[in-house]
Amino acid sequence: MTTLDRERARSSERETKRSRRRVSRRRSGVDHQYRAPSGREPGIPASSEGDQKHRILSAGMADTIEDLLSEGRTFPPPEPFKQDSLVAGTFLYDEASQDDEGFWARQAADLLDWSEEWHTILDWQEPFAKWFVGGKLNASHNCVDRHVDAGLGDRVAFHWEGEPGDTRAITYAELRDEVARAANALKALGVGKGDRVAIYMGMVPELPITMLACARIGAPHSVVFGGFTAESLRDRINDAEAKVLVASDGSWRRGGIVDLKAIADDALAACPSIERCLVFRRTEHDVSMTDGRDVWWHDLVTDQSTECPPEPMDAEDLLYLLYTSGTTGKPKGIMHTTGGYLTQVAFTHKYVFDLHPDRDVFWCTADCGWVTGHSYIVYGPLANGATSVMYEGTPDYPDKDRFWAIVEHYGVTLLYTAPTAIRTFMKWGTEYPEKHDLSSLRVLGTVGEPINPEAWVWYWQEIGGGRCPVVDTWWQTETGGIMISPLPGATTLKPGSATFPLPGIAADIVDDGGEPVGVPGGGYLVLTRPWPSMLRGIWGDPQRYRDTYWSRFEHKYFAGDGAKRDADGNFWLLGRVDDIMLVSGHNISTTEVESALVDHSSVAESAVVGKTDAITGQAIAAFVILREGNEPSDELAAELRDHVAKVIGPIAKPKTVLFTEELPKTRSGKIMRRLLRNVAEDEQLGDTTTLADPSVVDGIKSRYLAAGAGDEG
Ligand code: ATP
Ligand code: MG
Repeated sequence: MTTLDRERARSSERETKRSRRRVSRRRSGVDHQYRAPSGREPGIPASSEGDQKHRILSAGMADTIEDLLSEGRTFPPPEPFKQDSLVAGTFLYDEASQDDEGFWARQAADLLDWSEEWHTILDWQEPFAKWFVGGKLNASHNCVDRHVDAGLGDRVAFHWEGEPGDTRAITYAELRDEVARAANALKALGVGKGDRVAIYMGMVPELPITMLACARIGAPHSVVFGGFTAESLRDRINDAEAKVLVASDGSWRRGGIVDLKAIADDALAACPSIERCLVFRRTEHDVSMTDGRDVWWHDLVTDQSTECPPEPMDAEDLLYLLYTSGTTGKPKGIMHTTGGYLTQVAFTHKYVFDLHPDRDVFWCTADCGWVTGHSYIVYGPLANGATSVMYEGTPDYPDKDRFWAIVEHYGVTLLYTAPTAIRTFMKWGTEYPEKHDLSSLRVLGTVGEPINPEAWVWYWQEIGGGRCPVVDTWWQTETGGIMISPLPGATTLKPGSATFPLPGIAADIVDDGGEPVGVPGGGYLVLTRPWPSMLRGIWGDPQRYRDTYWSRFEHKYFAGDGAKRDADGNFWLLGRVDDIMLVSGHNISTTEVESALVDHSSVAESAVVGKTDAITGQAIAAFVILREGNEPSDELAAELRDHVAKVIGPIAKPKTVLFTEELPKTRSGKIMRRLLRNVAEDEQLGDTTTLADPSVVDGIKSRYLAAGAGDEG
């Protein structure tokens, strides 16, 4: 039975399994006891887990994942950085390990304003969590008003830059007025507490303003990424039964207009729940407005009053719905509530990026359509009173140095981006960052996919000038906030490792049977305790929530990802378990083989998949993008195959290498290996609706077939 077969069998088992245990833990009261740094490496528990035996794998009995890549480079926090950082020792870990619920309660109290205190920190009825039960707060008050009340009204919340080069600086005082106006406008359109509002806009300030306006009146928002098709927008609107859609006329992309309103009109043709559509004018091209339904933002919002008292919300009231990016299949409407979510995003934004809000300039390059944008453009930074950059367009317009021009211009200190972007910058070469002064940067972050050690080192060196800690942050739409990540002033970094679970977070790695694999060891990444910003369910489908996350392993949240821990206890993400390849009885992660390929100086990016093979069960098919200045050849393919064998072992040597200019990616930039598997197996392509550019996979398919699939090299 291959891993894939096993996963398929499991998912049918999931349908029938039910959680048996019901635990309700009720605790309250806050115990303020800080402990001195102990000098231990953060994240390593005091008890010696390192003594546990590494499970020995035997061929044909692969219930864990091979550990092939060994990355020996370490990067302790630079001394000057450490001296000025919020956390340079282990005190947060020590505190949290004493009493994780008390720890989170302290964060909730320290980082947020509550109009009513909670009576219960955590009510856990597996798999349903309630955090800060009985507490009341409002997210828009926490993100905006209270900073103005504290005298920070003149601080810039957003330095916004449009793709054509127009700019706006929006202070917290201005943001408060804008949010209140937009909230009153939504009320005028009939939106009340509990009504869902869909949002389909480009990256303009009115997008976070609309999100905060929804939060202000207690209407959950559902932001749909502005690159999705009418069909995807329609499905999401209908699933959420949204009452109002807020859309832009269009957005700028590489100098052209994406006609969002036309796409929205197409979607709204079959969205019975939508009563009104509020349209923000950005690109100013001609759009059609439907009488009685559509209303312009500048006609309705601009003249509204700036008085709009924030609605006191229960900690557990729904803040938003967000659909996962769809890398693996049908998107799920993930539910996030108010108190726990805000606590964890504020906490992680502050400590993972070592935020000094009075002097840092934070830039998260994600789109607000993804969870990264929700948590680290909107709710985390604003809850912390930070100054952020928000950019509308692509990194290569008008030229490939746009990001670095922005970093230089605004003096960005904290930069958060994705491995897909970093690999693209690597491919383009260093001449673009070299054109700009990047010396303002202090911390570099990455999220979204495993980062190959070579890409990590490139980011550290070429962007960070060898001065800035790189925080590789593992988390998901479902987790709401960062879960596994270094703290930049405290953690010794290893390129490619997300290092340790954050204080208050419990993660483990288990084998096929759910038993912890110990340290070192590889297997399935699970979360073993509830956390404040965890999803509260899948909208309208509690059974799918149980089946997807809580039935694979008893009493554990299964994230869908493979991971390993090295002898020091560092976590290394190994990609999705659905993508794991079974070669001669060994479970081999895609990440490690791809990292071995990217380790070669000619390679910028690669994706590998398992293809059915008569002898080895599966053989590895590699798809490779070269760095600028390298030419594809049979010799280079052979060299790359040998390179993998040399770096991580002959078992992982790709059987085929196909050079390509592009890889099939989701609109959020993640490689969709299941489609490459379809190509390698010469099968019908699966669902391609979440692909950024469906033509990419057809191109790869024809080249793959022309090259003679199965050919060595
Ligand atoms: P879907 O769940 O619909 O298939 P998705 O998983 O791509 O979509 P997201 O929630 O955006 O949706 O992505 C979370 C996933 O991204 C994680 O489960 C993991 O596979 C990957 N990921 C995120 N950050 C990291 C990281 N730092 N290292 C490795 N993988 C990461
Ligand atoms: Mg996912």
